[in-house]
Amino acid sequence: MVVVKKLIVIFSIIGTICIILGVLWLIYGRIEVKLIGDEKILATYNEEYHDPGFIITKNDKEMDKDSYEVITNNDIDITKLGEYHLSYDIKYHFLSFHLERIINIVDDVKPDINVSLESIKRDYCTKKDKDKLEYTIIDNYDGDITDKAVVEEVDDNYIINVSDTNGNENTLSIPIVLTEKPKDVFKLNGNSTVYVTTNSKYSDSGVTYTDGCGNKLNDKVNTVNNVNTSKNGEYTVTYSVGNNKLTRKVIVYTPSNTSNTGSGSGKVIYLTFDDGPGVYTEKVLNTLAKYNVKATFFVTHQFNGYVPLIKKEYEAGHSVAVHSYTHNWNIYKSVDAYLNDFNKMNNDILKYTGNYSKIFRFPGGSSNTISRNYSKGVVKAIASKMLNDGYQYFDWDVDSGDAAGASRSKIYSNVVNGAARCSKCIVLMHDIKPNTVNELDNILKTLTSKGYKFGTLSVNSPTVHHAIAN
Ligand SMILES: [Zn+2]
Repeated sequence: MVVVKKLIVIFSIIGTICIILGVLWLIYGRIEVKLIGDEKILATYNEEYHDPGFIITKNDKEMDKDSYEVITNNDIDITKLGEYHLSYDIKYHFLSFHLERIINIVDDVKPDINVSLESIKRDYCTKKDKDKLEYTIIDNYDGDITDKAVVEEVDDNYIINVSDTNGNENTLSIPIVLTEKPKDVFKLNGNSTVYVTTNSKYSDSGVTYTDGCGNKLNDKVNTVNNVNTSKNGEYTVTYSVGNNKLTRKVIVYTPSNTSNTGSGSGKVIYLTFDDGPGVYTEKVLNTLAKYNVKATFFVTHQFNGYVPLIKKEYEAGHSVAVHSYTHNWNIYKSVDAYLNDFNKMNNDILKYTGNYSKIFRFPGGSSNTISRNYSKGVVKAIASKMLNDGYQYFDWDVDSGDAAGASRSKIYSNVVNGAARCSKCIVLMHDIKPNTVNELDNILKTLTSKGYKFGTLSVNSPTVHHAIAN
């Protein structure tokens, strides 16, 4: 019996313990607590830090957040690099847990390189950049570190390299793009047709052959020049580079007026051309050269690109004289305005001939009335001052009529008939009028065949003065 009683007691104790353990199991179960993520975490300087937290499970099931208490502690300062601690103290009934994590605030961000252009254009010839490489570099920790950049040129790229104080490096490559290779230039120097008098010395002005960058390649040009000035005729000078070919026509001739003493002896014709140099002036010079006739050009600066032809006019033996820089009627608003315009033109003449001109022609002639609209008596005042200062002005006694739009045949008859009956024989023409330019060959053929002599105007030449009207 005693044994039985003892067994009963033992079993009751065991039963009671089992009941207590069962109740405890119901409350606590198998509780596990752990950090989410690593115990050591690197976090970025100056960026908000979010801790991934912890997980608490009971019997492998995540516990309801309301069933436990948590106290979180940390000393994290994201604005300073360094090591910080974060801890969680968790209480669940009589149980408590402590979790701890180390957070390192580090600078792990590369400096940011900003460029204004995706690529840099470079001149093919000069090898100089046409664009400027411009950039700014901002670092999250150091701020503006543009001046810390190292720029190198490697294989047609600019390499911008920079590191911040914490060793974060960044590199950016900007391509350098060459401009297109310019084309070669192969062109004649001087005119494509040249008139040369018999037995004179012919010196060919050659060609220009350059690569697109202006480097001379003239030694690569093959020139064939058979011009023989002892024999009249038409010659062709040929220049070739590979398959490219240029030619110049050289005409050797005997001018008629040098051999013809003719019936018009004693008479001197002064051909004058106003308002150029312009697009037709070279043609006029060629035609004059063909007949070996010298003339006078009253020049302007109306056609900018042609102004240098003044040099050719001068070098061909023609007289160069002042007409007007602008050829605007408002030069007549005062003597000063006129002289200002006049002097500008004379400076051009100085530049291309080496001398100022002492002779001029009033725009519209000295008898023009248009100047009345600008200033009363201005032409008279200008004429008087200029003559006093040793200048001379020239009107005309033969008018080709080209300014008024005469046809080619009318221009021809005006000049040829005018030359037959003139006394001073100053012939007004315009080298900017195509009818005059195109008819000039016929006119010269006739005038030279009549044996007239041709002269150029100078300050001592006989002059024609119209009656001043203002
Ligand atoms: Zn004019």
